[in-house]
Amino acid sequence: MEIIYNYTLSELEELLVEFGFKKFNARQVFEWIYKKEVTDFEKMSNLSKKLRIFLNENFKFSALLVAENQLSFDGTQKFLFELEDHNFIETVLMRHEYGNSVCVTTQLGCNIGCSFCASGLQKKQRDLTAYEIVQQVLKVSEITKERVSHVVVMGIGEPFDNYDETMKFIDIINSPYGLEIGARHITVSTSGIVPKIKMFSNEPKQVNLAISLHAPNNEIRTRLMKINKVYPIETVIEAAKEYVAKTNRRITFEYILLEHINDELKHANELSDLLRGINCYVNLIRYNTVAEFNLKGSSEERANAFYLKLKSRGINTTLRREKGGDIDAACGQLRSKKI
Ligand code: SAH
Ligand code: SF4
Repeated sequence: MEIIYNYTLSELEELLVEFGFKKFNARQVFEWIYKKEVTDFEKMSNLSKKLRIFLNENFKFSALLVAENQLSFDGTQKFLFELEDHNFIETVLMRHEYGNSVCVTTQLGCNIGCSFCASGLQKKQRDLTAYEIVQQVLKVSEITKERVSHVVVMGIGEPFDNYDETMKFIDIINSPYGLEIGARHITVSTSGIVPKIKMFSNEPKQVNLAISLHAPNNEIRTRLMKINKVYPIETVIEAAKEYVAKTNRRITFEYILLEHINDELKHANELSDLLRGINCYVNLIRYNTVAEFNLKGSSEERANAFYLKLKSRGINTTLRREKGGDIDAACGQLRSKKI
């Protein structure tokens, strides 16, 4: 038995045609599952009896269980989901003026092991399947009864270390017969796996890409992210340029501000030199404290000074206000376990 949520529309079309059904039947199934959120093939009243029997014999529905659901004072909501193998993952819903954005998890733990991130404290146990990622979005909209308009792939895990399932997930939520989340409303964040950035540049969908840069040079970046030894900063920048050239899209660089580590004005100057001429913007994030690390986020003053320096040097920059810090739902605070 296959889980129906693991299928992209084209995979389902292909399969149904192979078994003598019509291509448009797949669209009907998708609409039942994602638009009407029906979880029983028998209730799909516009399908033939034969097709319903076929689906029942070959596919099953499956869902994540909600173990916990916490609401922050700022409207951010964090969900702890239990997977079928009894592991736990976290998913975050952020309520913005422009709509609701869900931050999904792609792996159980993370092997990249950045020196500042709670998610990386747990070694990767396994990749999530497309179904488990899709379900995070479905469950959040089911529980809150609110439409999810944006998705950020910034929860636990390195999405480009689980490339195929992540791309399948994007295909499924983007389908006009499914959740219809526009590609321009989907953002994938990577720690900088260069070959996968190149692969991503060739994907036909207009999905946004964010790269966790966090440093203006190799020395600082290697200290924060050991992956920089494998893919040094210049190769990451080169791949970013290639992405922009191929897709004609702006790229985002994420930069967490750590007091006295990467937040000096000389670092802002170095960063602006590095990014000069790239169609990009820099998303500055004040570091959220993680109990296990002896690291401190920049003060508001230092963060503002850094922001203004980048601005004055012509770099598009935003200083992000964190959401959900009070419930440990902010960037880098997610964990794949129940505590
Ligand atoms: N693995 C991917 C996506 C998940 S992390 C990546 O690293 O890009 C999402 C973002 O949160 C990344 O930019 C990450 O560097 C950042 N982050 C991790 N820990 C953080 C923390 N404690 N405070 C603020 N941002 C953090
Ligand atoms: Fe993994 Fe991203 Fe955390 Fe680094 S920042 S450990 S890549 S989740």
